[in-house]
Amino acid sequence: MDEQALSLRELLDQAAASASLGEREEAEQQYRRATERSPGNSEAWLGLAASTPSLEEKRAAYEQVLVINPNNGEARVALQRLATQADPEQAQAIRETLNRPVSQDVPRPAGSGARSSSNDGHEHVPVDTGEVTYCVNHPDTETTLRCNRCGRPVCLKCVKLTDVGYRCKDCIREQQNSFFNAENTDYIIVAVVSFFLAAIAGPIIGALLGIFGLFFGIIIAVFLGPAVGGIAATIIRRSVGRRRGRYMGIVAVVAIILGVAVGAFGGILFGRPPNLITMGVFLFLSLSTIYASLR
Ligand SMILES: [Zn+2]
Ligand SMILES: [Zn+2]
Repeated sequence: MDEQALSLRELLDQAAASASLGEREEAEQQYRRATERSPGNSEAWLGLAASTPSLEEKRAAYEQVLVINPNNGEARVALQRLATQADPEQAQAIRETLNRPVSQDVPRPAGSGARSSSNDGHEHVPVDTGEVTYCVNHPDTETTLRCNRCGRPVCLKCVKLTDVGYRCKDCIREQQNSFFNAENTDYIIVAVVSFFLAAIAGPIIGALLGIFGLFFGIIIAVFLGPAVGGIAATIIRRSVGRRRGRYMGIVAVVAIILGVAVGAFGGILFGRPPNLITMGVFLFLSLSTIYASLR
């Protein structure tokens, strides 16, 4: 991994790509690295908040966003939601964070103990007062939401809740373009790697499934298919430095079917034809796993 060489922008886009592929742990690591590299970047904190499984860390990350920008609508909405899930004491602390006047100094980090609750009669100044922002596309529409990538104010019509928080349409389009970063040679590598993986592993798995007969063969194929598919997808993705291509899944599937056919032909020559049903079940499950991971 040469993530050190990535720019912060690239790291954040990779993290967003991981998140949208459902690779939560990878996304969490990448966002964490981004917050370490640039602690003043609210996009990194929002991504970490969305990808971490820890409620405590989610809360700390959203509070960090409010330190950077007290008007961040997404963090405010998320904290309000967290307050309903937290125990009463924590919920109170979260509400105090939300009601804190903008002018107040940087708050303590989350988890540093109970905050003074003696501010009864304290005049709560709603954070949004004073700063009325308008959607960049609809100058007449007031909004508190901001795109968490470019920071521009956008109304609900112009924003989409993605896996990594609220994003404007321009940023989503841009991110999709950087999402598919494969080069043309990557397709050749994917085809070759997939073909040989299948040509070598195909006859071995075919012979293995053949040992167990039809009934147990199918049961084993059901368990083995997704597992082997997952391993194969990892090997194929690593072979191209984890770059992603729009057609990578289909190229891999076609190459694997060709590889399995050649491997099976070799098996037939040596008098070991595979069982078509167990092999079919196995192939269907492993190929759908591979296709899904190579989107
Ligand atoms: Zn944007
Ligand atoms: Zn708008």
